[in-house]
Amino acid sequence: MFRFRRPLPALLALACLGALLVLLHRSAVRAPVSRHGRLLMGTACEISFLVPPGADPGRVAAAGFAEIERLENLWSLHCPDSELSLLNRAGRAAVSPETRELLRLAGEISRLTGGAFDITVKPLLDAWRAGEAAGTVPDHAPLLPLVDYRGLAVEGDEARFRQEGMQADPGALGKGLAADLAAEKLRSLGVKAGIVNIGGDMAVFGPGPHRGRWRIGIRCPRGDGLLGTLWLTDRGVATSGDYRRYFEIAGRRYSHIVDPRSGRLAEPPQSVTVVAPGAGAADALATAAAVLGAEAAVELFDGLEGVEGLVVAPGGTVFASAGFEALAAPPGRFFPLE
Ligand code: AMP
Ligand code: MG
Repeated sequence: MFRFRRPLPALLALACLGALLVLLHRSAVRAPVSRHGRLLMGTACEISFLVPPGADPGRVAAAGFAEIERLENLWSLHCPDSELSLLNRAGRAAVSPETRELLRLAGEISRLTGGAFDITVKPLLDAWRAGEAAGTVPDHAPLLPLVDYRGLAVEGDEARFRQEGMQADPGALGKGLAADLAAEKLRSLGVKAGIVNIGGDMAVFGPGPHRGRWRIGIRCPRGDGLLGTLWLTDRGVATSGDYRRYFEIAGRRYSHIVDPRSGRLAEPPQSVTVVAPGAGAADALATAAAVLGAEAAVELFDGLEGVEGLVVAPGGTVFASAGFEALAAPPGRFFPLE
């Protein structure tokens, strides 16, 4: 049922980078958190956790990073032997359980969003990339028939496209799902509470140092400050935005998130932050919400169990799902209400 809330009057200024950040202070001193960083999946990764008694924090973190690296080798399109590269080249490939899970989740989010999310957008993205290199807006209309999540089938351990020329791009959910799987790895090593953060897509689990939860700051997409602070555990959280990545052609910016139905996205929101049961789902839903726009996105979030979201529309108006403010860190409300 449609339960659209009024736009919230939090407005934003200036420019800033990044989207979500782990906030650790004061109470964290009593329960020290071990933090480790590495560059993986083409972005900054951070693993933070409460150290289990007797464990070597460096080894625990290394095992988490190794899991992310293993998934990167399965999914990266920069790696010619990854399962997705092989699938894209041959039109069919044997896929591991992790890749099957990636494709299953992608299909589920596509069905939930009426195709706003579509892992088969790669031919369109390639056209935009080529257009950027050539300095001309690409003629992408002829490619639209190649973009259709229903044309990607998984049977047994084989994935295949139903049409020649179709290709998959994991960019909108791979980081989130990798955060979930790395968090599972940490748990298997006895870690009771932690955060795996891959470029701002985060899996948050167990009792954190702030009264049993973790504090996650959401940066303003156009400002130095925070839009607010989430207070979470056992959730995934991810942000998609218009400000970090885009195609630039003849001095104009074009969104790196495309609408699979038209091949472009004229006016993406400044940012979308989604909290979901897992980081893979949060990541994919944030990208889908950017395609859907603020009002349809909030309607979608309100209809999904365990999902909340916040959209900063192109003009700076903030829209939130019905339960989003209840995720605010104490004291008080999520963002200033006039
Ligand atoms: P994110 O930063 O998670 O929003 O992911 C953005 C990336 O997802 C883009 O750089 C593309 O690689 C890919 N992408 C773009 N549009 C879509 C879409 N409509 N559905 C799925 N993936 C997309
Ligand atoms: Mg995403």
